[in-house]
Amino acid sequence: RLSIKKITTGSRELDNILGGGVETKTITEFFGEYGTGKTQICHQLSVNVQLPPEKGGLSGKAVYVDTEGTFRWERIEAMARAVGLEPDKAMENIFYQRAYNSDHQISIVEELFSFVPKNNVRLVVLDSVTSHFRAEYPGREHLAERQQKLNAHLHQLMRLAEAYNLAVVVTNQVMARPDVFYGDPTVAVGGHVLAHTPGVRVQLRKSKGNKRIARIVDAPHLPEGEAVFVITEEGIRD
Ligand code: ADP
Ligand code: MG
Repeated sequence: RLSIKKITTGSRELDNILGGGVETKTITEFFGEYGTGKTQICHQLSVNVQLPPEKGGLSGKAVYVDTEGTFRWERIEAMARAVGLEPDKAMENIFYQRAYNSDHQISIVEELFSFVPKNNVRLVVLDSVTSHFRAEYPGREHLAERQQKLNAHLHQLMRLAEAYNLAVVVTNQVMARPDVFYGDPTVAVGGHVLAHTPGVRVQLRKSKGNKRIARIVDAPHLPEGEAVFVITEEGIRD
């Protein structure tokens, strides 16, 4: 436990319910509907991991695996500037990878076992971890196969997190009407994919305007309760 480090999210409230921030040696899943802030949090963490420890970072670099094409360098620039990092340097410290299908996504992660230790990577983001698997293994008839592949993939990510003391952050978009998909663990009520993998699950909901509400699901070791944060031009804040 002593070697576990934390990366600030930019929101003190959100950090508090996470026990100080997003942890290394574990997978943290942010799940919620479209527009709840999953991708913005991933951008923010990719910037914040670069900060020195006294500012909530790990003086490290990030790998960002984008499956949906929603990554924006302009957001990295704005968020970096807002925390006092040089935008050009901050962008250089993020290794961006677009994953085109689930096999590609899996092979990107396999290659990280040699890439990560050579490049001071302390954060690996998969935004989202589920979209390709859902598209390629649709419906109930493919559910078992999808879940088996996804679990193996998550297992690899867990090994990566533990071997290199880094944080793995994944997102998972859940439907507005989860009752329709009841029984499917990747879209079910609760909506999280980490049911069979250790890790921290954070549910996100929309509130008024740019306010969002986060809640930790099924984590007896973390404080209960909800965190309210905002998404601004500068990034994730209280
Ligand atoms: P998700 O990934 O959960 O679908 P996002 O992380 O993309 O959601 O969050 C989208 C939200 O972030 C939108 O409400 C949008 O208004 C806000 N957002 C995106 N860019 C900016 C920005 N430059 N300034 C302020 N808010 C922004
Ligand atoms: Mg998104």
